[in-house]
Amino acid sequence: MAKHYDFLVIGGGSGGLAASKRAASYGAKTAVIEGGRIGGTCVNVGCVPKKVMWNAAHVAEFLKDAPEYGFPLQRGDFEWKRVKDARDAYVQRLNGIHDRNLEVAGVEKIDGFARFVGSKEVIVNGERITADHILIATGGRPWVPEVEGAELGITSDGFFELDQQPSHVAIVGAGYIAVELAGVFNALGSETTLLLRSELLLRRFDSMLRDTLMEEMATAGINILSCIQLKSIDREADGKLCLVSESGDRLTNFDAIVWATGRVANTENLGLDAAGVKLDQEGFIAADDWQNTNVEGVYAVGDVTGRSQLTPVAIAAGRKLADRLFGKQPEARMDYENIPTVIFSHPPIGTVGMT
Ligand code: FAD
Ligand code: NDP
Repeated sequence: MAKHYDFLVIGGGSGGLAASKRAASYGAKTAVIEGGRIGGTCVNVGCVPKKVMWNAAHVAEFLKDAPEYGFPLQRGDFEWKRVKDARDAYVQRLNGIHDRNLEVAGVEKIDGFARFVGSKEVIVNGERITADHILIATGGRPWVPEVEGAELGITSDGFFELDQQPSHVAIVGAGYIAVELAGVFNALGSETTLLLRSELLLRRFDSMLRDTLMEEMATAGINILSCIQLKSIDREADGKLCLVSESGDRLTNFDAIVWATGRVANTENLGLDAAGVKLDQEGFIAADDWQNTNVEGVYAVGDVTGRSQLTPVAIAAGRKLADRLFGKQPEARMDYENIPTVIFSHPPIGTVGMT
């Protein structure tokens, strides 16, 4: 007979962990299925290691300014690998903490990738599991445009794997990740070029914040190039990478090129057809304000829904769903209005509500 749960969560990232622990706190028999590293994007290749790098960049800026404030400090060479190793060890400790927290909360963890074989049934490691309620919290991954030589670039995932600091780096994109990584590289001493396909970075942000940040970034030494339509990436004879634009311009001498061109939902291989769960036009799982999908008893939270792809949003949506399903709070739901957001740029900016 298939194993049965009250609540089965697919994905042990920000949203899935929060929902499962809250559900278990109400006595629901709960399991989380995780195919990768516990903690998901935020812990392993997102907010947490990013913030470590942002802190490193912040220290570099302090050191630069210190003599002006009466501290005659010398800035020595920056040891990228030393920070990377310490950061990886920190993330590994967090993985352990998340595992233990699940255990303490009474949530069962199942290692493996889940696939729906019916609306209330999934298969993982060849085993069938059924549940009264199933939550899809499978997050997303970086998206890379289909230009020739795209594979020569890396994404934010690859950024966290870099053992060596590139001395010349190009970042393609104009959103959160492009802005944050450009600031980190530049403050830590990489010669940094940021390529925008339009005139502006952070197009959907308040114009005053955006324009000020763009000026500050340029003043800090980031080479911001607007309105560049990329055609390809080539590797030169000397091993350096070269960006070729549609108009034929060649930008060369890069040790690394980072794609920061957005993210897509992890929905392939989930067997959504077997469950009858529908996607929206952009490939995210269509969920209403109560996190309901179109299939009764199947829900979605976090990045896989494409709505405000932020960790606190995934956590809040997951907890509210558990409150509603198991905590006798039929009105509980995430409020998607006026969500504050911060960009860890240099300087950092934050915004909420109306411009
Ligand atoms: P995830 O955390 O991505 O978790 C999904 C999990 O599901 C993964 O562990 C995956 O392995 C697993 N999974 C997928 N498919 C299956 C399957 N079939 N079976 C089993 N498991 C599966 N947000 C902020 O609020 N602040 C920040 O500073 C910030 N910085 C970021 C920096 C970067 C570089 C990136 C990439 C993101 C950042 N974010 C930040 C966004 C934040 O990381 C995400 O919004 C958040 O992690 C979404 O949580 P989630 O639970 O929806 O998905
Ligand atoms: P964003 O959606 O923020 O930005 C994607 C960028 O890619 C846009 O600027 C877009 O340009 C550009 N782009 C898309 N296609 C192309 C192309 N073909 N060529 C060149 N540029 C292209 O995505 P990110 O990947 O930066 O981040 C994903 C999400 O992760 C964010 O939306 C955010 O929710 C979350 N995040 C949150 C952070 C935080 O809270 N501090 C930090 C990092 C990520 P254009 O503007 O011209 O359309």
